[in-house]
Amino acid sequence: MVVDNRQAEASLESMHRIFTVPEAPDSTLGAIELDISQNLNEFLRHHIAAVEKPLAEIEKDFSNADIPESPSFVSDHTQFLLDKLVAQSVHTSAPSFIGHMTSALPYFLMPLSKIMIGLNQNLVKIETSKAFTPLERQVLGMIHNLIFDQQTDFYDKWMHSANHSLGAFCSGGTVANITALWVARNNLLKADGDFRGVAQEGLFRAMKHYGYEDLAILVSERGHYSLKKAADVLGIGRDCVIPVKTDGNNRIRTDELKATLTKLEQKRIKPIAIIGVAGTTETGNIDPLEELADIAEQHQIHFHVDAAWGGATLMSNKYRHLLKGVERADSVTIDAHKQLYVPMGAGMVIFKNPASMTAIEHHAEYILRKGSKDLGSHTLEGSRSGMAMLLYASLNIISRPGYELLINASIEKAQYFAGLIKQQVDFELVTEPELCLLTYRYVPAATQQALEYANDEERQQLLEALNDLTQFIQKRQRESGKSFVSRTRIHPEKWQRQITTVFRVVLANPLTSHEILDAVLKEQRVLAQESTISLPEIERLTQAILDRHQS
Ligand SMILES: *Cc1c(COP(=O)(O)O)cnc(C)c1O
Repeated sequence: MVVDNRQAEASLESMHRIFTVPEAPDSTLGAIELDISQNLNEFLRHHIAAVEKPLAEIEKDFSNADIPESPSFVSDHTQFLLDKLVAQSVHTSAPSFIGHMTSALPYFLMPLSKIMIGLNQNLVKIETSKAFTPLERQVLGMIHNLIFDQQTDFYDKWMHSANHSLGAFCSGGTVANITALWVARNNLLKADGDFRGVAQEGLFRAMKHYGYEDLAILVSERGHYSLKKAADVLGIGRDCVIPVKTDGNNRIRTDELKATLTKLEQKRIKPIAIIGVAGTTETGNIDPLEELADIAEQHQIHFHVDAAWGGATLMSNKYRHLLKGVERADSVTIDAHKQLYVPMGAGMVIFKNPASMTAIEHHAEYILRKGSKDLGSHTLEGSRSGMAMLLYASLNIISRPGYELLINASIEKAQYFAGLIKQQVDFELVTEPELCLLTYRYVPAATQQALEYANDEERQQLLEALNDLTQFIQKRQRESGKSFVSRTRIHPEKWQRQITTVFRVVLANPLTSHEILDAVLKEQRVLAQESTISLPEIERLTQAILDRHQS
């Protein structure tokens, strides 16, 4: 190799060059662009290291806090990124990575995102986004239509109305949930007589005016943690997110909800919202939305549905009935970056009533003037990218029936995998898939039998050892790099609600095959035998229980 003495220079001329001269096709970055457009999966497989480095090692590559005093050539720096960053990133689009809600993306989004970044529109106001504003409003209208199914004249009237809004496009489910609860709070504590509303006067004076002792947000104990963040930033407090008990299928118990509402009423604590979860993050179950809608209606409480992950199921005519009742919600959160196959940073909150968002409307002098169509007057975020374009393109290119095929295939693949797990003598399905998410664990056949005879103490010991084993297998599998499932801790009815560590699988990647699922189980079985602490402990406990039972 030639010794390279080149040193990049920070001249104004070179600064101009990076704004005007594209990277040559034979440069490092040029080659990457070509590779990515020809075979992204191959590129990722080639550049992401198969075996993980410990995080502490990786941190050493990112430990210098000095901003460089001399520039780098693009090619040199790109090489650094390939070696140190890309190599140690996570191959989320690999068909054997079935642990997360983010998976593969269709190809057309790569060049389209370049157009989006190249245009660099700012959706906060029309001046910096022009056609992107009606496009985003149309996308919100389409998703509104998917959920609430109003007539054409409804959309003709409201979709582009300056003083109305069918929802907000935002960075994800968290901001969507915050926005929904912000609107619910402001509509509840609205202007009244001398009181100019919570948005203007704040929570303290709002509570005094309305005479409430406290506020509350009601959601099942499986509610997403973003709701606590929302309660925190809205001044309601995390303690005021009241977890309602769930049944054996992780769905909210409506009898418990009703009892809680009565208790709150007696204490003059006002609920700002009842939240139904449509696809819990841990187990993928859906709350009884129709019943929740009845209760919310009866008590006149804002009804929000957190369908961040499961909302895409509405694309499927075959399975959309699972979300029956969602059309009665006042607001719905849905993430495009989960099951709608759009890159990260695409969430939405949709309001049934086009006037709901007036409660958070904000105007400023130089932008967001009253009567303007600037999207920034109804969003928590200020400057925002043209991400809606990628969802718009996907909705057109894939179309509703295309999404239906993807969604149905994912759900049916989860059903296949559940069946496969049940056939194994040494695996246990912990939660059945309602959508494309399920949980399970490895339990040796003899141990399954021993659990039936175990007394409370023995059962407790076995469960703890099994939890350790599940954790061991999951970590080993991730570290060895062939496949990945996630793990979580749940409280199954079957084990008297004791903490149970489980493998969690989300089957969203269209390229995940039955063979891959077979291989995942086989690998886990092999990895279990490598456990030198938990497995021997489980075997010892199992033997003791079985011996006692036989004698
Ligand atoms: C993912 C998820 C969220 C949070 O969404 P982000 O896009 O990660 O901010 C909220 N609720 C549920 C049910 C989710 O699955």
